[in-house]
Amino acid sequence: MTQEILSAMKSIVGEEHASSAESVLKLHGKDQSSHRVHLPDVVVWPDSTDQVKAIVKYAAAHGVAITGWGAGSSLEGNSIPVKGGIVINFGRMNQIVQVHEADFQITVQPGIFYKDMNKALAKYGLFFAPDPGANASIGGMIANNASGTRTVKYGATRDNVLALEVVLANGEVIRTGSRSIKQSAGYDLTHLMIGSEGTLGLVTKATLRLHPLPEHFSAVVATFESTPDAANAVFGVIGSGLNPAALELVDSEAIRFMNMRVTNLPEKPTLLMEFHGAAAASINAELELVREICDDSGCIRFEAGVGREERDRIWEGRHALGEILFSVYPDQTYLITDVSVPISAYPEIAAYANELFDQLGVNGSLFGHAGDGNVHTVIFAPKDDPEKQAVLQTFNDYVVQKAIELDGTCTGEHGVGIGKQKYMVHEHGEGAISTMRQVKHLLDPTGIMNPGKIFDF
Ligand SMILES: Cc1cc2nc3c(=O)[nH]c(=O)nc-3n(C[C@H](O)[C@H](O)[C@H](O)COP(=O)(O)OP(=O)(O)OC[C@H]3O[C@@H](n4cnc5c(N)ncnc54)[C@H](O)[C@@H]3O)c2cc1C
Repeated sequence: MTQEILSAMKSIVGEEHASSAESVLKLHGKDQSSHRVHLPDVVVWPDSTDQVKAIVKYAAAHGVAITGWGAGSSLEGNSIPVKGGIVINFGRMNQIVQVHEADFQITVQPGIFYKDMNKALAKYGLFFAPDPGANASIGGMIANNASGTRTVKYGATRDNVLALEVVLANGEVIRTGSRSIKQSAGYDLTHLMIGSEGTLGLVTKATLRLHPLPEHFSAVVATFESTPDAANAVFGVIGSGLNPAALELVDSEAIRFMNMRVTNLPEKPTLLMEFHGAAAASINAELELVREICDDSGCIRFEAGVGREERDRIWEGRHALGEILFSVYPDQTYLITDVSVPISAYPEIAAYANELFDQLGVNGSLFGHAGDGNVHTVIFAPKDDPEKQAVLQTFNDYVVQKAIELDGTCTGEHGVGIGKQKYMVHEHGEGAISTMRQVKHLLDPTGIMNPGKIFDF
Protein backbone atom coordinates (compact mmCIF):
# COMPACT_ATOMS: atom_id res chain seq x y z
CA MET A 1 0.00 0.00 0.00
CA THR A 2 2.82 2.40 0.92
CA GLN A 3 4.39 1.97 -2.53
CA GLU A 4 1.05 2.65 -4.21
CA ILE A 5 0.49 5.80 -2.15
CA LEU A 6 4.05 6.94 -2.75
CA SER A 7 3.83 6.62 -6.52
CA ALA A 8 0.42 8.32 -6.54
CA MET A 9 1.87 11.21 -4.50
CA LYS A 10 4.94 11.47 -6.76
CA SER A 11 2.69 11.71 -9.78
CA ILE A 12 0.97 14.71 -8.13
CA VAL A 13 3.89 16.65 -6.61
CA GLY A 14 6.90 15.36 -8.52
CA GLU A 15 9.46 12.68 -7.72
CA GLU A 16 11.46 14.68 -5.14
CA HIS A 17 8.51 16.03 -3.13
CA ALA A 18 7.13 12.79 -1.69
CA SER A 19 9.03 10.36 0.50
CA SER A 20 8.70 7.22 2.58
CA ALA A 21 12.31 7.28 3.79
CA GLU A 22 12.54 6.09 7.38
CA SER A 23 14.19 9.29 8.65
CA VAL A 24 11.45 11.42 7.06
CA LEU A 25 8.68 9.25 8.51
CA LYS A 26 10.27 9.39 11.97
CA LEU A 27 10.48 13.17 11.84
CA HIS A 28 6.78 13.40 11.02
CA GLY A 29 5.66 10.72 13.48
CA LYS A 30 5.99 12.88 16.59
CA ASP A 31 5.41 16.39 17.85
CA GLN A 32 6.89 18.17 20.90
CA SER A 33 4.80 16.23 23.42
CA SER A 34 5.52 12.90 25.08
CA HIS A 35 2.72 11.19 23.12
CA ARG A 36 3.60 7.93 21.42
CA VAL A 37 5.21 8.08 17.97
CA HIS A 38 3.11 6.89 14.99
CA LEU A 39 4.72 6.84 11.58
CA PRO A 40 2.86 7.96 8.46
CA ASP A 41 3.18 5.89 5.28
CA VAL A 42 4.21 8.80 3.11
CA VAL A 43 5.14 12.46 3.58
CA VAL A 44 4.33 14.84 0.76
CA TRP A 45 5.30 18.49 0.11
CA PRO A 46 2.75 20.13 -2.22
CA ASP A 47 3.36 23.62 -3.62
CA SER A 48 -0.17 24.70 -4.54
CA THR A 49 -3.81 24.42 -3.61
CA ASP A 50 -4.36 22.34 -6.75
CA GLN A 51 -1.81 19.81 -5.56
CA VAL A 52 -3.41 19.66 -2.08
CA LYS A 53 -6.76 19.15 -3.74
CA ALA A 54 -5.40 16.26 -5.84
CA ILE A 55 -3.80 14.66 -2.75
CA VAL A 56 -7.05 14.87 -0.80
CA LYS A 57 -9.05 13.46 -3.72
CA TYR A 58 -6.68 10.50 -3.89
CA ALA A 59 -6.93 9.95 -0.11
CA ALA A 60 -10.74 10.17 -0.20
CA ALA A 61 -10.97 7.68 -3.06
CA HIS A 62 -8.69 5.19 -1.29
CA GLY A 63 -9.75 5.76 2.34
CA VAL A 64 -6.27 6.94 3.35
CA ALA A 65 -5.78 9.19 6.42
CA ILE A 66 -4.37 12.71 5.85
CA THR A 67 -2.70 14.83 8.52
CA GLY A 68 -1.54 18.40 7.96
CA TRP A 69 1.91 19.41 9.20
CA GLY A 70 3.33 22.88 9.82
CA ALA A 71 6.32 22.88 12.18
CA GLY A 72 5.37 19.87 14.31
CA SER A 73 5.56 22.01 17.46
CA SER A 74 2.21 20.89 18.89
CA LEU A 75 2.09 19.88 22.54
CA GLU A 76 -0.88 17.47 22.52
CA GLY A 77 -0.04 15.06 19.71
CA ASN A 78 -2.20 17.17 17.34
CA SER A 79 0.01 16.52 14.33
CA ILE A 80 0.87 12.87 15.05
CA PRO A 81 -0.60 10.69 12.26
CA VAL A 82 -2.09 8.08 14.58
CA LYS A 83 -3.71 6.17 11.70
CA GLY A 84 -0.69 6.42 9.39
CA GLY A 85 -1.48 7.45 5.81
CA ILE A 86 -0.30 10.71 4.26
CA VAL A 87 1.26 13.65 6.10
CA ILE A 88 1.04 16.86 4.12
CA ASN A 89 4.00 19.05 5.03
CA PHE A 90 3.13 22.65 4.06
CA GLY A 91 6.78 23.78 4.06
CA ARG A 92 6.77 24.62 0.33
CA MET A 93 3.55 26.62 0.61
CA ASN A 94 5.21 29.38 2.62
CA GLN A 95 4.72 32.51 0.55
CA ILE A 96 3.26 35.90 1.37
CA VAL A 97 0.51 36.25 -1.24
CA GLN A 98 -0.20 39.94 -0.57
CA VAL A 99 0.28 42.58 2.11
CA HIS A 100 -2.85 44.75 2.27
CA GLU A 101 -0.93 47.57 3.93
CA ALA A 102 -3.71 50.16 4.04
CA ASP A 103 -6.04 47.66 5.74
CA PHE A 104 -3.46 46.21 8.17
CA GLN A 105 -3.93 42.75 6.68
CA ILE A 106 -1.88 40.05 5.00
CA THR A 107 -2.77 37.04 2.87
CA VAL A 108 -0.37 34.11 3.19
CA GLN A 109 0.07 30.46 2.43
CA PRO A 110 -0.19 28.19 5.50
CA GLY A 111 3.42 27.00 5.64
CA ILE A 112 4.92 30.39 6.47
CA PHE A 113 6.33 30.62 10.01
CA TYR A 114 4.94 33.53 12.02
CA LYS A 115 8.38 34.85 13.00
CA ASP A 116 9.48 34.97 9.34
CA MET A 117 6.23 36.68 8.44
CA ASN A 118 6.70 39.26 11.19
CA LYS A 119 10.27 39.94 10.03
CA ALA A 120 8.94 40.64 6.54
CA LEU A 121 6.18 42.84 7.97
CA ALA A 122 8.54 45.01 10.04
CA LYS A 123 9.24 47.27 7.06
CA TYR A 124 5.53 48.12 6.93
CA GLY A 125 5.51 48.87 10.69
CA LEU A 126 3.00 46.03 11.17
CA PHE A 127 2.95 42.70 12.99
CA PHE A 128 0.80 39.60 13.54
CA ALA A 129 0.25 39.49 17.27
CA PRO A 130 -0.30 35.83 18.34
CA ASP A 131 3.14 34.50 19.32
CA PRO A 132 3.38 30.93 20.62
CA GLY A 133 6.77 30.07 22.14
CA ALA A 134 7.79 27.89 19.20
CA ASN A 135 8.27 29.30 15.69
CA ALA A 136 5.01 27.81 14.46
CA SER A 137 3.48 27.89 10.99
CA ILE A 138 0.38 29.96 10.33
CA GLY A 139 -1.51 26.81 9.23
CA GLY A 140 -0.64 25.05 12.51
CA MET A 141 -1.55 28.15 14.53
CA ILE A 142 -4.93 28.38 12.81
CA ALA A 143 -5.59 24.66 13.25
CA ASN A 144 -4.72 24.80 16.99
CA ASN A 145 -6.04 28.34 17.59
CA ALA A 146 -2.67 29.18 19.10
CA SER A 147 -2.13 32.08 21.50
CA GLY A 148 0.87 33.74 23.03
CA THR A 149 2.20 36.34 25.39
CA ARG A 150 0.41 39.16 23.53
CA THR A 151 -3.02 37.52 23.43
CA VAL A 152 -4.14 39.40 26.53
CA LYS A 153 -4.22 42.61 24.45
CA TYR A 154 -4.44 41.49 20.83
CA GLY A 155 -6.40 38.23 21.02
CA ALA A 156 -5.70 34.64 20.02
CA THR A 157 -5.23 33.42 16.44
CA ARG A 158 -9.03 33.09 16.23
CA ASP A 159 -9.40 36.86 16.75
CA ASN A 160 -6.91 37.65 14.01
CA VAL A 161 -8.11 35.60 11.04
CA LEU A 162 -10.55 37.11 8.55
CA ALA A 163 -10.75 34.68 5.65
CA LEU A 164 -9.53 31.24 4.63
CA GLU A 165 -9.19 29.02 1.64
CA VAL A 166 -9.81 25.42 2.69
CA VAL A 167 -9.62 22.07 0.92
CA LEU A 168 -12.43 19.88 2.28
CA ALA A 169 -12.30 16.11 2.73
CA ASN A 170 -13.93 15.53 -0.69
CA GLY A 171 -11.31 17.67 -2.43
CA GLU A 172 -13.62 20.65 -2.87
CA VAL A 173 -11.95 24.04 -2.36
CA ILE A 174 -13.99 26.66 -0.47
CA ARG A 175 -13.41 30.27 0.54
CA THR A 176 -14.64 31.36 3.96
CA GLY A 177 -15.07 34.89 5.31
CA SER A 178 -13.92 38.10 3.62
CA ARG A 179 -11.47 40.96 4.22
CA SER A 180 -14.12 43.04 5.94
CA ILE A 181 -13.53 43.50 9.67
CA LYS A 182 -17.28 43.17 10.21
CA GLN A 183 -18.87 40.02 8.85
CA SER A 184 -22.40 38.88 9.43
CA ALA A 185 -23.22 36.87 6.34
CA GLY A 186 -24.34 33.42 7.41
CA TYR A 187 -22.63 30.66 9.34
CA ASP A 188 -19.09 31.49 10.36
CA LEU A 189 -17.12 28.75 8.61
CA THR A 190 -13.83 30.58 9.19
CA HIS A 191 -14.15 30.18 12.92
CA LEU A 192 -15.42 26.63 12.59
CA MET A 193 -12.13 25.74 10.91
CA ILE A 194 -9.98 27.60 13.46
CA GLY A 195 -9.12 25.25 16.30
CA SER A 196 -10.40 22.18 14.42
CA GLU A 197 -6.86 20.71 14.34
CA GLY A 198 -7.07 19.79 10.68
CA THR A 199 -10.00 17.42 11.30
CA LEU A 200 -12.46 19.34 9.09
CA GLY A 201 -10.30 20.59 6.23
CA LEU A 202 -6.85 21.78 5.21
CA VAL A 203 -6.09 25.49 5.14
CA THR A 204 -4.31 26.50 1.93
CA LYS A 205 -4.53 30.30 2.26
CA ALA A 206 -5.35 32.71 5.08
CA THR A 207 -6.01 36.42 5.40
CA LEU A 208 -4.87 37.71 8.77
CA ARG A 209 -5.37 40.89 10.77
CA LEU A 210 -2.26 42.86 11.65
CA HIS A 211 -1.51 45.59 14.17
CA PRO A 212 0.84 48.58 13.95
CA LEU A 213 4.07 48.09 15.88
CA PRO A 214 3.66 50.05 19.13
CA GLU A 215 5.22 53.51 19.17
CA HIS A 216 5.93 53.39 22.89
CA PHE A 217 6.25 50.43 25.20
CA SER A 218 7.47 49.65 28.65
CA ALA A 219 8.32 46.35 30.26
CA VAL A 220 7.79 45.59 33.95
CA VAL A 221 9.30 42.91 36.15
CA ALA A 222 7.50 42.44 39.49
CA THR A 223 8.88 39.95 42.00
CA PHE A 224 6.84 38.27 44.78
CA GLU A 225 7.51 35.97 47.73
CA SER A 226 4.87 33.44 46.69
CA THR A 227 3.02 32.26 43.59
CA PRO A 228 -0.42 33.01 45.16
CA ASP A 229 0.71 36.62 45.82
CA ALA A 230 1.74 37.00 42.19
CA ALA A 231 -1.54 35.42 41.04
CA ASN A 232 -3.54 37.89 43.15
CA ALA A 233 -1.71 40.76 41.48
CA VAL A 234 -2.67 39.33 38.07
CA PHE A 235 -6.34 39.57 38.95
CA GLY A 236 -5.73 43.03 40.40
CA VAL A 237 -4.16 44.31 37.16
CA ILE A 238 -6.74 42.84 34.76
CA GLY A 239 -9.65 43.43 37.17
CA SER A 240 -8.76 47.15 37.29
CA GLY A 241 -9.35 47.45 33.58
CA LEU A 242 -5.68 47.96 32.75
CA ASN A 243 -4.68 46.78 29.31
CA PRO A 244 -1.26 45.09 29.38
CA ALA A 245 0.15 43.85 26.08
CA ALA A 246 1.61 40.90 27.99
CA LEU A 247 1.11 39.60 31.51
CA GLU A 248 2.94 36.38 32.31
CA LEU A 249 3.36 34.64 35.64
CA VAL A 250 6.54 32.59 35.98
CA ASP A 251 7.23 30.71 39.23
CA SER A 252 10.66 30.59 40.90
CA GLU A 253 11.53 27.22 39.38
CA ALA A 254 10.70 28.45 35.87
CA ILE A 255 12.76 31.63 36.45
CA ARG A 256 15.65 29.38 37.47
CA PHE A 257 15.38 27.64 34.08
CA MET A 258 15.18 30.96 32.17
CA ASN A 259 18.29 32.12 34.06
CA MET A 260 20.20 29.00 32.97
CA ARG A 261 20.32 30.24 29.38
CA VAL A 262 19.07 33.78 28.96
CA THR A 263 18.04 36.01 31.87
CA ASN A 264 19.43 37.03 35.23
CA LEU A 265 16.30 37.58 37.31
CA PRO A 266 15.74 37.02 41.06
CA GLU A 267 14.63 33.39 41.46
CA LYS A 268 11.23 34.18 42.94
CA PRO A 269 7.67 34.09 41.53
CA THR A 270 7.60 36.90 38.99
CA LEU A 271 5.18 38.79 36.79
CA LEU A 272 6.57 39.80 33.42
CA MET A 273 4.49 42.56 31.87
CA GLU A 274 4.52 44.88 28.93
CA PHE A 275 2.44 47.96 28.16
CA HIS A 276 1.97 49.50 24.71
CA GLY A 277 0.68 52.97 23.90
CA ALA A 278 0.71 55.90 21.53
CA ALA A 279 2.30 58.18 24.17
CA ALA A 280 4.85 57.60 26.93
CA ALA A 281 2.76 59.65 29.39
CA SER A 282 -0.25 57.34 29.18
CA ILE A 283 1.97 54.30 29.73
CA ASN A 284 3.61 55.92 32.76
CA ALA A 285 0.20 56.58 34.30
CA GLU A 286 -0.71 52.91 33.81
CA LEU A 287 2.58 51.81 35.35
CA GLU A 288 1.93 53.81 38.52
CA LEU A 289 -1.37 51.99 38.99
CA VAL A 290 0.27 48.63 38.29
CA ARG A 291 2.90 49.37 40.93
CA GLU A 292 0.21 50.13 43.52
CA ILE A 293 -1.67 46.91 42.70
CA CYS A 294 1.50 44.84 42.90
CA ASP A 295 2.49 46.48 46.21
CA ASP A 296 -0.95 45.65 47.63
CA SER A 297 -0.35 41.99 46.72
CA GLY A 298 3.00 41.85 48.51
CA CYS A 299 5.39 42.69 45.67
CA ILE A 300 8.98 42.72 46.96
CA ARG A 301 10.68 44.25 43.89
CA PHE A 302 9.11 46.29 41.11
CA GLU A 303 11.13 47.32 38.10
CA ALA A 304 9.33 49.40 35.48
CA GLY A 305 10.58 51.09 32.33
CA VAL A 306 12.94 48.22 31.56
CA GLY A 307 15.02 49.23 28.51
CA ARG A 308 14.66 47.67 25.04
CA GLU A 309 17.67 45.38 25.33
CA GLU A 310 16.68 43.93 28.70
CA ARG A 311 13.03 43.72 27.61
CA ASP A 312 14.06 41.72 24.52
CA ARG A 313 16.15 39.42 26.71
CA ILE A 314 13.27 38.82 29.13
CA TRP A 315 10.89 37.85 26.33
CA GLU A 316 13.55 35.75 24.67
CA GLY A 317 13.93 33.90 27.99
CA ARG A 318 10.18 33.51 28.38
CA HIS A 319 9.79 32.18 24.84
CA ALA A 320 12.73 29.82 25.29
CA LEU A 321 11.36 28.46 28.58
CA GLY A 322 9.56 25.48 27.02
CA GLU A 323 12.59 24.35 25.09
CA ILE A 324 14.90 24.84 28.08
CA LEU A 325 12.58 22.76 30.28
CA PHE A 326 12.40 19.91 27.76
CA SER A 327 16.17 19.83 27.37
CA VAL A 328 17.02 19.89 31.09
CA TYR A 329 15.46 16.47 31.81
CA PRO A 330 16.09 14.40 28.65
CA ASP A 331 15.55 11.13 30.56
CA GLN A 332 12.09 12.13 31.80
CA THR A 333 8.66 12.24 30.22
CA TYR A 334 6.76 15.44 30.71
CA LEU A 335 3.18 16.56 30.68
CA ILE A 336 2.07 20.13 30.11
CA THR A 337 -1.20 21.29 31.58
CA ASP A 338 -2.98 24.10 29.76
CA VAL A 339 -6.10 24.98 31.73
CA SER A 340 -7.65 28.41 31.46
CA VAL A 341 -10.27 30.06 33.68
CA PRO A 342 -12.13 33.37 33.98
CA ILE A 343 -9.68 35.94 35.34
CA SER A 344 -11.48 36.25 38.70
CA ALA A 345 -10.74 32.54 39.26
CA TYR A 346 -7.08 32.84 38.26
CA PRO A 347 -5.69 33.20 41.81
CA GLU A 348 -7.64 30.10 42.89
CA ILE A 349 -6.51 27.86 40.03
CA ALA A 350 -2.89 29.05 40.28
CA ALA A 351 -2.81 28.43 44.05
CA TYR A 352 -4.48 25.03 43.55
CA ALA A 353 -1.96 23.88 40.92
CA ASN A 354 0.90 25.22 43.04
CA GLU A 355 -0.25 23.19 46.06
CA LEU A 356 -0.64 20.03 43.99
CA PHE A 357 3.13 19.89 43.36
CA ASP A 358 3.65 19.14 47.05
CA GLN A 359 0.45 17.16 47.60
CA LEU A 360 1.23 14.69 44.81
CA GLY A 361 5.01 14.91 45.17
CA VAL A 362 5.41 16.01 41.56
CA ASN A 363 8.48 17.74 40.15
CA GLY A 364 7.68 20.67 37.88
CA SER A 365 7.09 24.37 37.44
CA LEU A 366 4.19 26.75 36.87
CA PHE A 367 4.00 29.58 34.38
CA GLY A 368 1.67 30.84 31.70
CA HIS A 369 -0.25 33.60 30.01
CA ALA A 370 -1.70 34.76 33.32
CA GLY A 371 -3.50 37.78 31.88
CA ASP A 372 -5.69 35.35 29.90
CA GLY A 373 -6.35 33.15 32.97
CA ASN A 374 -4.12 30.48 31.39
CA VAL A 375 -2.00 28.26 33.68
CA HIS A 376 0.66 25.92 32.39
CA THR A 377 2.47 23.49 34.59
CA VAL A 378 5.21 21.33 33.14
CA ILE A 379 5.56 18.21 35.24
CA PHE A 380 8.14 15.47 34.93
CA ALA A 381 8.54 11.79 35.77
CA PRO A 382 11.27 9.28 34.91
CA LYS A 383 10.58 7.39 31.68
CA ASP A 384 11.11 4.04 33.42
CA ASP A 385 8.75 4.72 36.34
CA PRO A 386 5.13 4.00 35.29
CA GLU A 387 3.82 4.76 38.80
CA LYS A 388 5.23 8.28 38.78
CA GLN A 389 4.00 8.77 35.23
CA ALA A 390 0.49 7.83 36.35
CA VAL A 391 0.76 10.58 38.97
CA LEU A 392 1.31 13.10 36.15
CA GLN A 393 -2.05 12.07 34.69
CA THR A 394 -3.65 12.41 38.13
CA PHE A 395 -2.17 15.89 38.44
CA ASN A 396 -3.66 16.87 35.07
CA ASP A 397 -7.04 15.28 35.94
CA TYR A 398 -7.22 17.25 39.19
CA VAL A 399 -6.23 20.57 37.59
CA VAL A 400 -8.68 20.11 34.72
CA GLN A 401 -11.48 19.11 37.12
CA LYS A 402 -10.83 22.25 39.14
CA ALA A 403 -10.69 24.48 36.03
CA ILE A 404 -14.01 23.12 34.76
CA GLU A 405 -15.57 23.66 38.22
CA LEU A 406 -14.41 27.28 37.90
CA ASP A 407 -16.17 27.62 34.49
CA GLY A 408 -12.90 27.22 32.63
CA THR A 409 -11.49 24.83 30.04
CA CYS A 410 -9.08 21.90 29.87
CA THR A 411 -7.09 23.67 27.17
CA GLY A 412 -6.63 27.37 26.58
CA GLU A 413 -4.34 27.09 23.57
CA HIS A 414 -2.68 23.73 22.92
CA GLY A 415 -5.83 22.04 21.65
CA VAL A 416 -7.35 18.66 22.40
CA GLY A 417 -5.12 16.48 20.21
CA ILE A 418 -4.78 13.11 21.88
CA GLY A 419 -4.28 13.94 25.56
CA LYS A 420 -7.35 16.06 26.29
CA GLN A 421 -9.98 13.86 24.61
CA LYS A 422 -10.93 12.28 27.92
CA TYR A 423 -12.10 15.66 29.24
CA MET A 424 -14.30 16.66 26.30
CA VAL A 425 -17.66 15.29 27.46
CA HIS A 426 -17.12 16.56 30.99
CA GLU A 427 -16.31 20.04 29.71
CA HIS A 428 -18.93 20.36 26.97
CA GLY A 429 -21.65 17.83 27.85
CA GLU A 430 -23.00 14.98 25.68
CA GLY A 431 -25.20 17.31 23.61
CA ALA A 432 -22.41 19.58 22.45
CA ILE A 433 -20.07 16.67 21.71
CA SER A 434 -22.78 14.94 19.71
CA THR A 435 -23.26 18.17 17.72
CA MET A 436 -19.49 18.35 17.09
CA ARG A 437 -19.56 14.74 15.86
CA GLN A 438 -22.39 15.60 13.45
CA VAL A 439 -20.37 18.52 12.07
CA LYS A 440 -17.38 16.21 11.63
CA HIS A 441 -19.58 13.61 9.94
CA LEU A 442 -21.00 16.17 7.54
CA LEU A 443 -17.62 17.57 6.48
CA ASP A 444 -15.59 14.35 6.65
CA PRO A 445 -17.98 11.40 6.36
CA THR A 446 -15.26 8.78 5.98
CA GLY A 447 -13.07 10.21 8.73
CA ILE A 448 -9.87 10.70 6.71
CA MET A 449 -8.91 14.16 8.05
CA ASN A 450 -6.45 13.84 10.95
CA PRO A 451 -8.32 10.86 12.45
CA GLY A 452 -8.02 10.11 16.17
CA LYS A 453 -7.93 13.77 17.24
CA ILE A 454 -10.40 15.76 19.37
CA PHE A 455 -12.61 12.65 19.67
CA ASP A 456 -12.68 9.17 18.22
CA PHE A 457 -14.69 9.05 15.06
C1 LIG B 1 8.50 25.44 23.28
C2 LIG B 1 7.07 25.55 22.85
C3 LIG B 1 6.31 26.61 23.30
C4 LIG B 1 4.98 26.74 22.89
N1 LIG B 1 4.25 27.80 23.32
C5 LIG B 1 2.98 27.93 22.90
C6 LIG B 1 2.21 29.06 23.30
O1 LIG B 1 2.69 29.94 24.01
N2 LIG B 1 0.95 29.15 22.86
C7 LIG B 1 0.40 28.20 22.03
O2 LIG B 1 -0.76 28.35 21.63
N3 LIG B 1 1.10 27.12 21.65
C8 LIG B 1 2.36 26.96 22.06
N4 LIG B 1 3.09 25.88 21.65
C9 LIG B 1 2.44 24.85 20.83
C10 LIG B 1 2.57 25.02 19.30
O3 LIG B 1 3.65 25.85 18.95
C11 LIG B 1 1.28 25.56 18.70
O4 LIG B 1 0.22 24.66 18.92
C12 LIG B 1 1.35 25.84 17.19
O5 LIG B 1 0.15 26.39 16.78
C13 LIG B 1 1.63 24.61 16.36
O6 LIG B 1 1.99 25.06 15.06
P1 LIG B 1 2.82 24.13 14.08
O7 LIG B 1 3.08 24.90 12.84
O8 LIG B 1 3.97 23.54 14.75
O9 LIG B 1 1.72 23.05 13.77
P2 LIG B 1 1.82 21.46 13.80
O10 LIG B 1 2.22 20.99 15.14
O11 LIG B 1 2.62 20.99 12.65
O12 LIG B 1 0.29 21.10 13.55
C14 LIG B 1 -0.68 21.54 14.45
C15 LIG B 1 -2.06 21.09 14.00
O13 LIG B 1 -2.37 21.77 12.81
C16 LIG B 1 -2.69 20.87 11.78
N5 LIG B 1 -2.28 21.54 10.57
C17 LIG B 1 -1.03 21.97 10.22
N6 LIG B 1 -1.09 22.67 9.09
C18 LIG B 1 -2.39 22.69 8.70
C19 LIG B 1 -3.10 23.26 7.60
N7 LIG B 1 -2.50 23.96 6.66
N8 LIG B 1 -4.44 23.07 7.54
C20 LIG B 1 -5.10 22.39 8.50
N9 LIG B 1 -4.48 21.81 9.55
C21 LIG B 1 -3.14 21.97 9.65
C22 LIG B 1 -1.97 19.60 12.15
O14 LIG B 1 -2.54 18.46 11.55
C23 LIG B 1 -2.15 19.61 13.67
O15 LIG B 1 -3.42 19.14 14.01
C24 LIG B 1 4.42 25.75 22.04
C25 LIG B 1 5.20 24.68 21.59
C26 LIG B 1 6.51 24.58 22.00
C27 LIG B 1 7.32 23.42 21.48
